[in-house]
Amino acid sequence: MMKEDLTVIKQKIKEAKAIVYFGGAGTSTESNIPDFRTESGLYNQPAFAGRDPQVLLSTRTLYQEPEVFYAYYRSHRLFPDAKPNKAHQVLARWEKEGKLKAVITQNIDGLHQMAGSQKVLELHGSVHRNYCTECQREATLEEIADPGRQVPVCRQCGGMLRPDVVFFGEPLDQQVLHQAVEALKMADFLIVGGTSLVVYPAAGLIDYFSGKNMLLINRDATPFDQRATWVIHQSIGEFLWQLAEE
Ligand code: ZN
Repeated sequence: MMKEDLTVIKQKIKEAKAIVYFGGAGTSTESNIPDFRTESGLYNQPAFAGRDPQVLLSTRTLYQEPEVFYAYYRSHRLFPDAKPNKAHQVLARWEKEGKLKAVITQNIDGLHQMAGSQKVLELHGSVHRNYCTECQREATLEEIADPGRQVPVCRQCGGMLRPDVVFFGEPLDQQVLHQAVEALKMADFLIVGGTSLVVYPAAGLIDYFSGKNMLLINRDATPFDQRATWVIHQSIGEFLWQLAEE
């Protein structure tokens, strides 16, 4: 990354009228939420009860062994003390200024909203939305996390509560997908941050972007490095912060 590049990217950001941010787990690692694939990520932790996180976080485990599912989910997917980092803050600011049109995220932590972003398309749902699998009533995160119960149940009907999160084996919300496609089609500047772009539907979605400027910020190389206008291998928060500086 050369200094001239930073100047050019800053200028392009200044001129941009419809920035879209497409983010993955790497966006939240600076908020101390572990990602899936990097060294300290979920896939490389000792498997819970000898099992793979993909299996633990599947609907099969949720419905057949809810006590195992919830023990894992609560200890590995809920981070009640996590705070938005610089990346979330800059994106929220750009939205307020009218430059950024949407954040499309694979994360379920709700940190973009906590930073003030409004238009957040959560491809995989959110830990902050929960409901009863029987009567469908909305439930709170506190009810899901209640340490007094191995498996959270509905106080109205006794049915099991669950997060509105897309777990392994579940389809994505078609409406959210559609909105993501529309946002990408009209974007004039795409920032892709903290995603390896190998997980469905990330790679396919990026194809809908037809603008000139694509900035890719990721720790490791991705299959899209060739296509990006600029590839940055450094902290997303720090880099976006630099871009937003006057
Ligand atoms: Zn219920």
